[in-house]
Amino acid sequence: MSTNGPVRPNTRKLLIRTWGCQMNVYDSGRMADILAPLGYAPTESAEEADMVILNTCHIREKASEKVFSDLGRLRLTKNERQAEGKDTIIAVAGCVAQAEGAEITARAPWVDIVLGPQTYHRLPEMVARASRAAGAVIETDFPAEDKFDHLPEARGNGGPVAFLTIQEGCDKFCSFCVVPYTRGAEFSRPAAAIIAEARQLAANGAREIALLGQNVNAWAGEAPRTVSGESPGGNTHGNTWRLARLLRELAEIPGVARLRYTTSHPRDMDDDLIAAHGEIPSLMPYLHLPVQSGSDRVLAAMNRGHKADLYLRLADRLREARPDIALTSDFIVGHPGETAKEFEDTMRLVERVGFAGAYSFKYSARPGTPAAGQPFPVPEAEKDTRLQALQALLRQQQDDFNRACVGRVVDVLVTGTGRHPGQVAGRSPWLQPVHAAGAAPVGAVVPMQLRATHPNSLSATMVLPEESAAA
Ligand code: SF4
Repeated sequence: MSTNGPVRPNTRKLLIRTWGCQMNVYDSGRMADILAPLGYAPTESAEEADMVILNTCHIREKASEKVFSDLGRLRLTKNERQAEGKDTIIAVAGCVAQAEGAEITARAPWVDIVLGPQTYHRLPEMVARASRAAGAVIETDFPAEDKFDHLPEARGNGGPVAFLTIQEGCDKFCSFCVVPYTRGAEFSRPAAAIIAEARQLAANGAREIALLGQNVNAWAGEAPRTVSGESPGGNTHGNTWRLARLLRELAEIPGVARLRYTTSHPRDMDDDLIAAHGEIPSLMPYLHLPVQSGSDRVLAAMNRGHKADLYLRLADRLREARPDIALTSDFIVGHPGETAKEFEDTMRLVERVGFAGAYSFKYSARPGTPAAGQPFPVPEAEKDTRLQALQALLRQQQDDFNRACVGRVVDVLVTGTGRHPGQVAGRSPWLQPVHAAGAAPVGAVVPMQLRATHPNSLSATMVLPEESAAA
């Protein structure tokens, strides 16, 4: 493929704008990797970019509208550059591209490439075609081939935190969600490819690796060929590994101090994965586990495939396995037909679980999803009232969680310098931003005593080795 050809010097500039989830952030990194051998170096400026990629998210209506307003501005930039004799390739990638395909070029004919999430490995070929073609190049098929086999080795950004996509797509078809239509069926990368990528990321400086997937805990990947029989910790089914087994393997990679995974589905939290939270020290005590609603009827209408009680039991079992685990979640308020009593069921579930953080949204219909056609929409004003009540409770729980951390000595992964001179910034095991006076190299894991909560972070003091031993 084209990326195997001679590497060109950095003669062109590439701007990638990313919306949405961490998987899109990861994909943007991979697109930059695949275009680097063609001479594309990153830029933040649209005016100097020879190629602009908008990596889009289709989860909320406003997100796709933002893409079209960005495209409007890019049209002007493209025209100005053209007047100076410079070409600009404009590409729309991600879930809006997948969902809307040729509609994008119908609305914005100055777009040169529309590519879905499964076709990134064909970018060099598309760029060549776009440079030659009179019309736009549109590639939104779900090709049978594995795009991961065709992407260059991930390099990471050299920072201490790296993302690694291990799974894509979703077979769950929640009533409100476009992912099964935009990202296709569940696909798990083979374990060997993931382990190789994790080793490479660690060699490039990553200390914390976050495994990504739309249904990351549904991962069921081909076992490496060299492994025979049951491995310690189990969870090897024939020739397939489940996530707990993969985590145990990744935990052995030198340099990898921390592991996380996101986003999970309650239905896929198997026994081994719950046990892994108590058994793998580098698996951080933090799990984002969306529940969406506390009402069994609403959960059924959402086609979630689980009841509220299953979620409550999972929360209990996870806390038995790892008592300090922080749980976070997603909520949708005002799904069609949600009654006041059913909303109260959600509030009761939140009170019962106690979350360290959450994302909560008003239901908004996504075209083409089953819920978009369901009767009895909840009035907007009622949705607003419910969302405010839920967010107030979740905010209070988050504040309680953060306050309860004050006084504790925890390992903080240093990710950079703080906002003020002489400060370092990092993240706690529970993903809280932490800042402290002092100096420590990026990538170091430093014991710190958490001292105070602030609106978006915690302040801390570094703990000297002798204090650490005494703590
Ligand atoms: S599990 Fe549901 S919400 Fe999550 S990606 Fe699949 S369809 Fe969407």
